[in-house]
Amino acid sequence: MQSKTASEAAKQRHIQRGIDARDKSKGNGKGQHAMQAGARKYPEPPFPEQHHPKPGDEWAIDPAPLYDAPFYLGSKKLDDKVALITGGDSGIGRSVAVLFAREGADIAIVYLAEDRDAKATKSAVEAEGRRCILVKADVSKRDQCRNAVAQTVKAFGRIDVLVNNAAFQIHSSEFAELTEEHFDTTLKTNLYGYFHMAQEAVPHMKPGSAIINTGSVTGIDGSKALVDYSMTKGGIHAFTRALSGNLLAKGIRVNAVAPGPVWTPLNPSDKEAGDVSKFGADTPMKRPAQPEELAPAYVFLASPHCSSYITGEILPVVGGY
Ligand code: NAD
Repeated sequence: MQSKTASEAAKQRHIQRGIDARDKSKGNGKGQHAMQAGARKYPEPPFPEQHHPKPGDEWAIDPAPLYDAPFYLGSKKLDDKVALITGGDSGIGRSVAVLFAREGADIAIVYLAEDRDAKATKSAVEAEGRRCILVKADVSKRDQCRNAVAQTVKAFGRIDVLVNNAAFQIHSSEFAELTEEHFDTTLKTNLYGYFHMAQEAVPHMKPGSAIINTGSVTGIDGSKALVDYSMTKGGIHAFTRALSGNLLAKGIRVNAVAPGPVWTPLNPSDKEAGDVSKFGADTPMKRPAQPEELAPAYVFLASPHCSSYITGEILPVVGGY
């Protein structure tokens, strides 16, 4: 019996020695490259250290976020549709605007203050052969959402797709230091903003229309320095599922995309410069996504050609597990 267990232990040590030797030769996985599985190569950390003022300008971000997906061919998946995209001036929203236009949609962009970014997005949409209007509005204010919807309907006659995507995110490492003003701004922008826009847009949406809400991995996993923001993102996921049931009878689908880290103005205008430099390095792919790696998920959820039987879902695009 003794010799039987001794030989089993010896076998275990033999396996262990083999693995130890292989780990050593690979440096324990240290220095592994970021995963590149895209149609072009994407930037990897370390990024230049930077910290930008809110709400964050895409033109100031280094390296410039990749949004135009030059390899992506449109195939009329949103032919002659009208999409209203909040936070569409930059980041994920800008890339969604460009790919929606490539699929045949006219676009209304709602943004807070970033005029230069908004003009660049409008030009990019027009370069796809579609129309684009810009509406400067604060989504936390009901009357400004109503006005944004009215301007869209006036310009294009209807709304087929609403992308709720505008957000406010600033970290607070100490929970006790999260102020009432900070908490209120996050909830008013991220939750009330989506609620207002959906309630104002739905009366103009016909059966076959779609709402897509941008959630976040923080709404699934939580993020210790983003307690308020994580809370809103979890709320957005629940809002998505609940509203999807509510709008079934109207023929309107409601889904969400939950991104992991994405290289946009949001985090360089939140995190400290040293953290921005490492942004996305702790994901399994060891890099953040670029906006053009998110936008096709929005096309998929917006298009009746692709997702007519899908509603109430949260689609994570997080770079692996
Ligand atoms: P972004 O900075 O490009 O976009 C945020 C947008 O929100 C800006 O265009 C800004 O104009 C708009 N905005 C902010 N406050 C507003 C207000 N009160 N009224 C109207 N517009 C307002 O950043 P992004 O990363 O593209 O963000 C888009 C969405 O993606 C957000 O919902 C964000 O929470 C989500 N998200 C981003 C990441 C990431 O790592 N970048 C990860 C998960 C989720």
